[in-house]
Amino acid sequence: MSEGNGARDSKMLHPELGDANGQGGAKLQHAEGASKNLQSRRREAQPSGAVIRGDRPVDQSEAANRFMAAPEHAKIHDERLWDLREKRDRQMHGIPEWEELRTLASEIKEHALTRLDHYLELFERNALANGIQLHWAKDAAEHNQIVLGIVRRHDAKRLIKSKSMLTEECGFREFMQTEGVEIIETDLGERIQQLDDEAPSHVVVPAVHKLRGDVAQVFAKTLGSDEDNDDPAYLAERQREATRPLILSAGIGMTGANFLVAESGGVVVCTNEGNADLSANIPPVHIVSAGIEKVIPRLDDLAVFIRLLSRSALGSPITQYTSHFRGPRLGGEMHVVLVDNGRSTRLGMEKFWTSLKCIRCGACMNTCPVFRRSGGLSYGATYAGPIGMIINPTFDPHKYSRLPFSSTLNGSCTNVCPVKINIHEQIAAWRQVMSETHEMPMMKKAMMAAAGRLLAQPALYRVAIAAADSALKHLPRFAVYNRLNSWGRQRELPAPPAETFHAWYKRNRGARK
Ligand code: SF4
Repeated sequence: MSEGNGARDSKMLHPELGDANGQGGAKLQHAEGASKNLQSRRREAQPSGAVIRGDRPVDQSEAANRFMAAPEHAKIHDERLWDLREKRDRQMHGIPEWEELRTLASEIKEHALTRLDHYLELFERNALANGIQLHWAKDAAEHNQIVLGIVRRHDAKRLIKSKSMLTEECGFREFMQTEGVEIIETDLGERIQQLDDEAPSHVVVPAVHKLRGDVAQVFAKTLGSDEDNDDPAYLAERQREATRPLILSAGIGMTGANFLVAESGGVVVCTNEGNADLSANIPPVHIVSAGIEKVIPRLDDLAVFIRLLSRSALGSPITQYTSHFRGPRLGGEMHVVLVDNGRSTRLGMEKFWTSLKCIRCGACMNTCPVFRRSGGLSYGATYAGPIGMIINPTFDPHKYSRLPFSSTLNGSCTNVCPVKINIHEQIAAWRQVMSETHEMPMMKKAMMAAAGRLLAQPALYRVAIAAADSALKHLPRFAVYNRLNSWGRQRELPAPPAETFHAWYKRNRGARK
């Protein structure tokens, strides 16, 4: 993962772009009318993500502090994601049977996951009958080698792909680049992240942590656009004109999969830009990378998930494109690579297997107060936010040992999850695992032990609370808001109540039998 924007020069321009595509900041005629000059405004630098130091645990709080120290980025990130959460709520209130849909979706996933071998074999049989070539990959390395083999057989030099978290999980882009195969992302947000040499920060909106000015800078350095023009229409057109020729001449197309339908042997991909259809339909060869947990039994089940997915993700009734791929085009090839990469191990984890129900809607991220204020890159992992806290430790419990502590355990993630994963309970369960396996930092462990002793003695607890309330009322401000109090760094502590709940209860109800 990138630790910052770093110095970039004209060598980053794609060799096929050339002067004709506007190097040196030439503006496009058709976007000119909408262009907006930024020169008068000082730009706030985009905060970088978590610093990965070998095998040391990712320090999310350190990266979160840096994100919050960039007030413009932090504010807009929070507002954008809260807006998605509010839109999701409005959609939910428009569907009286919303809770029944969630229950049904959760039960369908549970049914499929507890009979995974049966449904995967059914999918395989039907996919093969449809003319799809099927591959099984036990891990990321095998997945990457299988795709490379297909690319080599077709002597392809360029592969276009739509957004796929699984390929991020497999380190696919970096791997293919070392093999001399050029990858072009067709999703706009993902393409921005690719050009900036950064991982996606969110499963649905990969560049949501970037401001328009950040995108203008990335495009200026990599596509030769005008650095002072951050008009979205201009930037989108600039990107389209730069990338379309590359897409049209690619030899291989790749997509992820939102769902694998066992009874039809078909693959379903949901996008809002139609970019999966470009990847699947322009090159003669279509490769689908899919985690084994994506299988659902029937087409009828699909309707349940389609009603939930986009409403939960973006607060829109449906994705613009819900594409069904059932077999190769005439004269073409279609491959599906089914990837395990730790999923069957997770299926055997009693407390954590239901995380495999996830349909990657991102709703738990949009609602999470920690995620909204710290940005997805602060988690230093493929999966960020609440779902990331329970998935990432299954890959590497040491490296991601601190992530489960980046949560307030308020339960909002669980409340919005369309497949009813008990996310906050699993976060708490991971904390217990980290404590038992000595992966908890010493300081935190000592503080937890002290808190445990205090909470176990009600009389002592009440004295401590009364003393803290009194201290908050009378201490000078600098004694409360200083470097030692990390809770007070980004927010004011609430004013102490005139009376504790315990005192109120004793006064009002204490005498009752
Ligand atoms: S855990 Fe639930 S809310 Fe979070 S991304 Fe997955 S399906 Fe969506």
